Amino acid sequence: MDNLMDVLKERLKEKGFKLTPQRRATLDVIFGNQGKHLNTEEIYGLVKEKCPEIGLATVYRTLQLLEEMELVSKLNLDDGCSRYEFNNHEDDHQHHHLICQSCGNVIEVEIDLLDQLEQEIENVYQFKIKDHKVKFFGICSECS
Ligand SMILES: [Zn+2]
Ligand SMILES: [Zn+2]
Ligand SMILES: [Zn+2]
Repeated sequence: MDNLMDVLKERLKEKGFKLTPQRRATLDVIFGNQGKHLNTEEIYGLVKEKCPEIGLATVYRTLQLLEEMELVSKLNLDDGCSRYEFNNHEDDHQHHHLICQSCGNVIEVEIDLLDQLEQEIENVYQFKIKDHKVKFFGICSECS
C-alpha cells in the first residue's frame, strides 16, 4: 500500500500535482475494492466517508487524473455508467469481463485465453497486439 502511494506521489509530482487527501482517498477506495468495478457514484459515496467535504466534481476530476496517470482504468460495460478499476501493470493484457444481463453482476476472467487468436491476427495482419477489451454478455450461475 505504501508503495502504491509512493508511485502515485511520484507521478503526481512529475505532472506538477500534489497528493491531496482527496486524491489519496480516491485511489485508496479503488485499490481497496478490486474486482468490484465501482462506478463514479459508488466511488463518490465511499470517498465521502473519509473526506466528507468532497464534491462529486472533485471525484470526477480526480478519477480523470488517476486515469491519465494509468493508475486506474475506465471501463465501459454498456450499462450506462463509467466504472473504474485499479490498473494492475503486472498483466499488460486486460482481463475479460462477463456481464450478467439479468442481475448486472460483473465477473472477471483472469486467464487471457487469446494467445492463439492474437498470434494469428499478428501474423495475418502484421499487427502487434498490446491489449484488448473483451466483454461477454449472458446469464450468471445465480440467475440461471
Ligand atoms: Zn492477450
Ligand atoms: Zn446474474
Ligand atoms: Zn475487471
